[in-house]
Amino acid sequence: MMLLITSLISLQSIRRFNQLGRSIDVILRENYRSVIACQQMKDALERMDSGLLFILSGFMKEGAAQIEVNRGRFKEALQTELNNLTLPEESARATELKSLFQLYDQGLDEFLLSQPQILRQLYFKNLFPLFNDVRDKAESILQMNQENMNAANNRARTKAAAARRDMYFFLGLSVGIALLFMLFSNHWILRPIRRLIDSTQEIRKGNLNLEIQVDARDEIGQLSEAFNAMVASLRLFRRSDQAKLVRVQRSTQEAFKNLPAAIAIVNTDNVIEIATAAARRNFKLVPNTSIEQTPYPWLAEIQRSLVKNPTAAGSEKKYEIIQQFSDNQERFFRPRVIPIFNDEREFNGSIIILEDVTLLMQNDEIKKDLFSTISHQLKTPLTSIRMALHLLLEENVGSLNEKQADLLVSARDESDRLNGIIEDLLDIRRLESGNVSLSLATVSPYPLVQEAADSFSRQAQDKGIRLEIDLPADLPDVCADRSRILYVFANLLSNAIKYSPVGGVVRLSAKLEGDRILFSVTDNGRGIPRKYQKRIFEKFFRVPGRNAEGGVGLGLSIAKEIVTAHHGQITFNSVEDRGATFSFSLDPQDGLPKGGS
Ligand code: ADP
Repeated sequence: MMLLITSLISLQSIRRFNQLGRSIDVILRENYRSVIACQQMKDALERMDSGLLFILSGFMKEGAAQIEVNRGRFKEALQTELNNLTLPEESARATELKSLFQLYDQGLDEFLLSQPQILRQLYFKNLFPLFNDVRDKAESILQMNQENMNAANNRARTKAAAARRDMYFFLGLSVGIALLFMLFSNHWILRPIRRLIDSTQEIRKGNLNLEIQVDARDEIGQLSEAFNAMVASLRLFRRSDQAKLVRVQRSTQEAFKNLPAAIAIVNTDNVIEIATAAARRNFKLVPNTSIEQTPYPWLAEIQRSLVKNPTAAGSEKKYEIIQQFSDNQERFFRPRVIPIFNDEREFNGSIIILEDVTLLMQNDEIKKDLFSTISHQLKTPLTSIRMALHLLLEENVGSLNEKQADLLVSARDESDRLNGIIEDLLDIRRLESGNVSLSLATVSPYPLVQEAADSFSRQAQDKGIRLEIDLPADLPDVCADRSRILYVFANLLSNAIKYSPVGGVVRLSAKLEGDRILFSVTDNGRGIPRKYQKRIFEKFFRVPGRNAEGGVGLGLSIAKEIVTAHHGQITFNSVEDRGATFSFSLDPQDGLPKGGS
């Protein structure tokens, strides 16, 4: 619309300007030249007349010359006028002017050739009246053209005024239409757009039950229809999503309820939200009841301590294994609690897991019994075998040839090794069951370390390994069971020598660290690969691929049990192919617990 109006104004303006241009052109072409020609004719006529007066006053020559010049000028101007006849009357008047001038021109010739005494008479009688006629005629043509010029000018003005008026009209019209458009755009465009925006906000809030009213078939109307279609598809999606969600939720709940472990989800108000069948059966954890109502106060205590101090997300708290009788059966459970956090990292509840470890416990018990039975059953015959071998080797029952002696030596070594393994097994069994009594006494670190080193000097020498001792002189005495700590040293030293290259260095050291004494055995051998480091103190664990070095993987676990029985700690540090340092700490003599064992 606006484009149409602007185009109309432009076209109209061009048309008006063309008209104005043409009017001015017409004035110039039609009248201006005639006016100039008439004025020139009048001027030339006046001069010719004054030439005549010059002659009458006795200035013959000057007068004649002036007449000649202006006669030519007049003729020229007359010709211009005759060529520019534009007005209806103009042609007749110009022809009259021409014939009048011809008479005047003839009169002039006659005057110039006449005797001086008749000149005056000729002038007043003939030339002067003709002069007046010619001038009047020229004047009348001049007037005529001037009038026409005025009329044309007035016409041009009228057109200009009309053009201005038209322009004002169209300008007003376009401003009016623009204002109307502005007023109605609110109704046509802004309101539907606002409606669309409001609807998107609603959708964001999750309200999909809305439909936008479609008032028009324009772009906004089409947009609204597309929007409605989109909302309809979203509704459809949500319906199928909800069905899926319900399905997943129900099946998860069912699966959860039937999990063999006792699991309960408890909210921050200590109310049980979901519980597995095992949790209901064994611990009376019933959904929608408070955990405080169960007959197990320790369960409520676990939950309360978590609510009071919820640890970080993903963390898990483990508790001591508890014994429980259900269906006249003894069962064991290991409680674990995992805190749940919401997106704002606020504590939001907890998962209580009561893992049934009865089977594990039973297996462990069976294993322990088996260990000790086997060890005891093996130990007696083995002792007899070893004794017999020793007697044979001492040649108490007859002399041996070289081959027999060799065979007997390897049989003795293997039976000694077997005896060592059985001893280890018995040891670990005793240590684990807590039936070991330590003979605690004051032990000086230096002689202890020295004795440990001495017992391995032969073995080290055989492998070309240097044994170093690094001990400060002023170390306080420790409180320990000497023979058991020597066992720990023996195990660490034998490993260090076993896993060191020929010509390596093994260092025994001790130092005061905090209020404890830290003993270390360092080697520069094969070290322990990072991926096995976690398992190094496990029973029977050996780094795979190192079977050639012998051992059954019990030494370190026994060492750990011994150090733990001393209330100390055993740790290690190792980089593969660079060596290992095993360290354990012991309390100084001052810290000796009263009573000893
Ligand atoms: P073993 O009787 O097999 O030596 P241990 O319990 O003493 O049993 O050690 C367990 C495993 O740890 C060993 O088999 C060995 O692979 C590794 N290990 C122990 N000490 C060292 C050490 N100083 N350097 C390299 N590996 C070691």
